Amino acid sequence: MKKLSDKIAELDPVRRKKVLTRAIKLASETRRIVYMCVICKKDAEDPCAIGITTNWSKPEKEQEYQQFWCHRECFEKVIAPEKLDI
Ligand SMILES: [Zn+2]
Repeated sequence: MKKLSDKIAELDPVRRKKVLTRAIKLASETRRIVYMCVICKKDAEDPCAIGITTNWSKPEKEQEYQQFWCHRECFEKVIAPEKLDI
């Protein structure tokens, strides 16, 4: 019998994103989610989200998007804080 994670990995990207988004929504409704800061790798209870788009110069259908979470303080250490407009 296949593991659930293997079944999800086999889904097409659009379907996989829908399934994972729904799973996160359900989890957040039932219990506290602890995010991991992608920079320091510690728990981040009230994180910022960083979005990465690959193949930015190519047509949109060739691009992929992924979101990460981090502490604002950690993000400010790795980028130029004066460029933040938030
Ligand atoms: Zn951090």
